[in-house]
Amino acid sequence: MAKYRGPVCKLCRREGEKLFLKGERCFTPKCAFERRGYAPGQHGKSSQFRRRRDSDYNRQLRAKQKARRVYGILERQFHRYYEVSLKRRGLTGLNLLQILESRLDNVVFRMGYADSRAQARLLVTHGHFSVNGRRTDVPSMLVSVNDVISVREGSRKRPYFKELADFAEKKNVPAWLERDLKALSGKILRLPERSEIDGNLNEQLIVEYYSR
Ligand code: SF4
Repeated sequence: MAKYRGPVCKLCRREGEKLFLKGERCFTPKCAFERRGYAPGQHGKSSQFRRRRDSDYNRQLRAKQKARRVYGILERQFHRYYEVSLKRRGLTGLNLLQILESRLDNVVFRMGYADSRAQARLLVTHGHFSVNGRRTDVPSMLVSVNDVISVREGSRKRPYFKELADFAEKKNVPAWLERDLKALSGKILRLPERSEIDGNLNEQLIVEYYSR
């Protein structure tokens, strides 16, 4: 599946806030947003550029772009998720966020088995994880309640996975997931509630953007 391959820190600068796309690095002085907290490009610092951000349309667009960038998804796929969320019962915005949270790469990240969603995506793509005992290399796979995600037996001998339990122990796991560090696995207990989805996302604006 296609993914964004450009400079990652530019995305934070474009959105005007830290999106925490690079794991630990985002918490160090090396963070590009700490050093240049304005939009990239020649006019990034100008007030004219900032004024453009004030229209309703622009707020909706930015909310949508931000969510896309946080989860590392291209437009077509994101729009597809929106259409699926429309067909589900309940609030479209919450449905959309729950779909995004159900992606396998996000779940691996949320379980603390990767430092960022980008790293989780890479680990899944390389076939290090299985879902309900079956190997998968599809980071966009949507997992369901009661699914069990585990590091594959053959991958456990690799240095990264040998130290993974110690690394993951420092990361908090949301209540909708269950993690077993000894087995290097985890289970989806339920779908996340709105309060359990961080990232300062505004799903209402995203819905408004697509329903224009
Ligand atoms: Fe964004 Fe992280 Fe890059 Fe900072 S280091 S600009 S938070 S991706």
